[in-house]
Amino acid sequence: SAKSKGRGRIASFTASLAAQHTHRKRLEADLHGALANGTELRLEYQPKFELSMRQLTGFETLLRWDHPQLGPISPSVFVPIAEEIGLIGRLGSWVITEAARQIAEWEGRGLASWLKFAVNLSAAQFIHGDIVSSTIGILRTAGVRPDRLSIEITESILMRDVVRASDALKRFREHGIGVSIDDFGTGFSSLSYLVQFPFDELKIDRHFVRTMLHSPAARAVVRSVIDLARSLEATVVAEGIENERQLIALHDMGCRLGQGFFLSEPLRPAAAALLMEGCRALAVAS
Ligand code: C2E
Ligand code: MG
Ligand code: MG
Ligand code: MG
Repeated sequence: SAKSKGRGRIASFTASLAAQHTHRKRLEADLHGALANGTELRLEYQPKFELSMRQLTGFETLLRWDHPQLGPISPSVFVPIAEEIGLIGRLGSWVITEAARQIAEWEGRGLASWLKFAVNLSAAQFIHGDIVSSTIGILRTAGVRPDRLSIEITESILMRDVVRASDALKRFREHGIGVSIDDFGTGFSSLSYLVQFPFDELKIDRHFVRTMLHSPAARAVVRSVIDLARSLEATVVAEGIENERQLIALHDMGCRLGQGFFLSEPLRPAAAALLMEGCRALAVAS
């Protein structure tokens, strides 16, 4: 009957909620373990290219968690969990420490010395503790100059505590650390607020890049972000370029830098090193 069908649906809904809860509790526990054992976390490096000559200008570091039983887990899943259970401070330090170690190793091999490395920061890292001092401390220990690093943050982080965020950004920049606004255009923040923040770079969210060839509205957003960046003397980077038509359209609109699977997926360290060696060879040859 309809009634028993309804009951069945409710029972399976409850069961699936319970299963989700169990899964979530497991991820929470295992994330503690991953931070402690240091063998399940690693960084990948997605190149950032200059669009006209397709020259490498830097990398964005992206955190990876290879769960021993569940396989790879996306940072869009576990970063929010880490924030909620108070682990993001340690996770964020792990990322900066590992990036600094890797940059120092590459510098020692004569690689990467002209490239910038971007690290993603999340809200909780910004609000608790002194993220600027801790970042500077980590870089100093690793022997990496602060101007090798930049940070990526989203608009919504900045809006949570405007005064505090603005102060942190200013201090990052005083140390030579670059500031990028990530996923720009998705946060619906007031432009008049946003332009008061000190930043060096705007990253056009990949949603607009994906839809711009079909949607005049998305194209208008892309065009205005490029114009805004130009008038604020910031650089602009398009995220999520997946084909040549998008790349050409962005370049024609005056966007100078880009990232995306069409240019390169996020790379493991060995592949990133090969790319840098190739670029160095090119630079020497020309
Ligand atoms: P994000 O900072 O906006 O990073 C860009 C995301 O887009 C990455 O996903 C990247 O792999 C993906 N991507 C790059 N090119 C393309 C493309 O052409 N097409 C498509 N469909 N996707 C592309 P990922 O690595 O899964 O990271 C997701 C988000 O997780 C990041 O978004 C960032 O917000 C967060 N995240 C990653 N690593 C860290 C970290 O170390 N710390 C913090 N706090 N957050 C991180
Ligand atoms: Mg990012
Ligand atoms: Mg982004
Ligand atoms: Mg994103």
